[in-house]
Amino acid sequence: MSSSEDQFLTNLLHKQEQPTASPTDLAETVARWKSATDEEVRTLLSSVLESLQTDAQSDRLNLPLLEAFLEGLAQRYAPKSRSGGPPPAPLEAPTFELLAQLYDALGARNSARYQILRVLASAGTTASLGLFANRLVDDPPTQPRQLDAACVPLFQATQLDVDALFPKLFDALGNPVLAAIVLDLSNHLYRRGMVAEHPATPRVQSLTQLLKAMAERLRLVEEQPSKYAANQQELQNLIGESATLIIPLCDALGAIGDPAAVPALNIVLEVRHRRLRAEAATALARLGEKRGVEMLVELAADPASRTRALAYLEELDEVVQVPKEHRSPSALAEAKLASWLAEPQQIGLAPQSVEVVDRRRQFWPGFDEPQDCFLVRYEYPFPQGPLIGIGLVGPTIYCLAVDLQDLAPSDIYAIYAGWHADHPELYEEDADDLADSERDVYEMAGKELDADNVELALVGRFFGRNMPVYRARRSQQPGFLVVDGDEASWYGAGNNSRPLGAREAYWIHKGRRLLATFNSDFGEEDVSVASFISDRVAALEASATMAMGAKAKELKAAGKKVYDFALGEPDFDTPDHIREAGIAAIKAGHTHYTAAPGIPELKKAVVDQCRERHGLEYDPTQVIISNGAKHALHNIFTATLNPGDEVIIPAPYWVSYAELVRIAGGVPVIVQTEQETDFKLLPAQLKGAITPKTKILLICSPSNPTGSMYSGDELGALADIVIENDLLAIADEIYEQLVYGDHKFTCFATVRPGLQERTVIVNGVSKTYAMTGWRIGWTISSPELAKAMSKLQSQETSNASSISQYAAVAALTGSQDCVAHMREQFAKRREFVQKRIAEIPGLSCPEMAGAFYAFINIKEHLGRSYNGKQVDDDSTWCLELLEQQNVATVMGSAFGAPGYARLSFAAAMDDIKAGFERIEAFVKSGA
Ligand code: PMP
Repeated sequence: MSSSEDQFLTNLLHKQEQPTASPTDLAETVARWKSATDEEVRTLLSSVLESLQTDAQSDRLNLPLLEAFLEGLAQRYAPKSRSGGPPPAPLEAPTFELLAQLYDALGARNSARYQILRVLASAGTTASLGLFANRLVDDPPTQPRQLDAACVPLFQATQLDVDALFPKLFDALGNPVLAAIVLDLSNHLYRRGMVAEHPATPRVQSLTQLLKAMAERLRLVEEQPSKYAANQQELQNLIGESATLIIPLCDALGAIGDPAAVPALNIVLEVRHRRLRAEAATALARLGEKRGVEMLVELAADPASRTRALAYLEELDEVVQVPKEHRSPSALAEAKLASWLAEPQQIGLAPQSVEVVDRRRQFWPGFDEPQDCFLVRYEYPFPQGPLIGIGLVGPTIYCLAVDLQDLAPSDIYAIYAGWHADHPELYEEDADDLADSERDVYEMAGKELDADNVELALVGRFFGRNMPVYRARRSQQPGFLVVDGDEASWYGAGNNSRPLGAREAYWIHKGRRLLATFNSDFGEEDVSVASFISDRVAALEASATMAMGAKAKELKAAGKKVYDFALGEPDFDTPDHIREAGIAAIKAGHTHYTAAPGIPELKKAVVDQCRERHGLEYDPTQVIISNGAKHALHNIFTATLNPGDEVIIPAPYWVSYAELVRIAGGVPVIVQTEQETDFKLLPAQLKGAITPKTKILLICSPSNPTGSMYSGDELGALADIVIENDLLAIADEIYEQLVYGDHKFTCFATVRPGLQERTVIVNGVSKTYAMTGWRIGWTISSPELAKAMSKLQSQETSNASSISQYAAVAALTGSQDCVAHMREQFAKRREFVQKRIAEIPGLSCPEMAGAFYAFINIKEHLGRSYNGKQVDDDSTWCLELLEQQNVATVMGSAFGAPGYARLSFAAAMDDIKAGFERIEAFVKSGA
């Protein structure tokens, strides 16, 4: 033995009352023995054993050093230690023998000795595992934790001499804790395919008896708990111990597959403990017993056991047996909340009932993709009164302790979003933690607030803004004022036993701001129950422009100037005389229902305008006034489409067309058009798309999103095919008056005789008169279709706003100078935009004949890196343009045309100029 080894031995055996060893000594010891040769280890062990024999005071051993020595031996088998340097030499059988002797010599009280078992298990040889199994079964460590730790290497091993362990390990079935570990291990080895047959197969009878005894005992305990346990804690421990053994027993019996186990498993089905029933049911199902699957289906009906039951049924390939309502997204959300509440660190008990009360897909702080969020109401019937709460399931699972029942769903999402948001610039500071000077300022400001008993509670820090929160009373009710800029918002504490505190009030405020920034429609709908959503609507595409909108809003909220060219509406306000007409309508009492298809004055004005502009004759009954042109399209599709009827839509198309067709049960048939032909549908393309199911051709001219417009001849060629194939045509002519240069608009219905009867004109005041918010659009169609749509609208929405209808009359019949003025402005911008696009290398777009959009080909600029960001598609290009240059556009893929970006020039000229500087800079930065 070298002198350093001698020294180590002396230290290890030293007899001081307080043995000491520094952390460095210990680390060195581990490293030393990790790479020691077998002979060195053997020599040391012999010396230690010899010394212990002559002086049987093993408790005087230096424990930390002993542990470090054993740790070193175990670590030589850790996979990591094999990666660097030469692998440590393996230990030999005689060394394992000495280790086992040391185990015996140390005695049960020595807290380091279980580590010897760990070393033997890690080595994984026939010799070491044989010694391991003998010691583990005949003289096991006394602490359950030490038992676990000793066995861990066996669960991690990829190769084991299993015959050295079994059947010896099954002699441990009399020791419940050890038996559970041994069964877990055999189940694990079986599942990993490390044994051909389940190791417990020869012992199936003992296992069955054991399970029977355990299950019967548990039933007795459940029936008369007070007889077996003095208090709740004892009872839980007792049940917990049974469960720890019953779970792997069921698993083993299911895997072994002996039908003799069925009666014992059936007894487990009778216990109350849901997890155990699920385990026994799965084992029974594996044994081919129908009752097993039935029980799992029953357990899936209960939210508290649903998640597990569904997972097991999935494994058994039987999940289809579960009724849909128990495996819907809402059912899973209920299950998640029930399981969360039942965790020991939460309430520790499953609630009596859970129910989804709201469901929303929305952007959430900290997540790039929209999240499915559920609000789940739960109830516990506690003796002191029911406990009712509303938890969140989605981006996280959580239940706040305060009573949220009086809040609107959007505010419940807000409070959870405010609580959940995790950002270094988002936090709260209690009033007591503020510097005196800051506290004084806010306390002074609090005096100005319109409330009683105002007292500063905390200050919210929100991306550099400060929002003081005051505890106060208003109309005698307690609550909180959150001051955000110039505005103070009031949040009532609620009249219940678990009122909101200052922090919760602030979370609502903070969450509202965050969610509103990410989600354009946040807070608009408060009543929605997930399970009621029809498959038809659930299948609709969410707006692809949402991410862009959310990002633009985020930038604006952060105080950045955004060059917003994503808008689909004129930037002008409604002309004065039209606004006045609206006001006059209110004053004149035009505030009642009108006829469902619209007021006669407006229908007449529509017919007159159509005659004047296009020379077409219609009766006013052929006009249906609706809530915007979008609603007009919905009326047409609903009134005409049977399930499966096809509607031909040329792409690029306005985003809503395809979805409106789907809502009505029809099938949108998208036909791709090309930039070379100005994105116009060619007769051959139309012919090629027609099938026996085709009912409608939809033409949008001038087009959103491309700005191109069909000539009379081009429309004529398409009209011939429409007539030949007995189709209905929809002509969306909402941009007909926004036409520039020498381009002349042609109304589709005029291009062939007889076409008028099979054409529905869609039009409205939104674009021509800058009246998007008034919601007035219309259809002009055959009398028969008009009657059908009138009937539909009378049941669905009744009339469009009476006030807006009167304003629209003024728009159509009053001076048209406003239209000319807006058109002139648009024309100037169009010219500028067209010129700039031509100037910027690699960008192109067809000439814009009408509308107010440029559809820019950006294909040359894809597949490049912009300031380190790789950009391969139009969505990323548009998002990076927004991110890096604050310019908002809409990606072409949203219109069914990847590789393009739509830019709306319904924006101030100065902004357009500055915007193009930025677009040019962005394009040039691409490498
Ligand atoms: N059709 C087209 C081509 C549109 O661009 C729009 C508005 N973006 C509409 C119809 C719908 O207009 P309204 O606002 O009248 O519903």
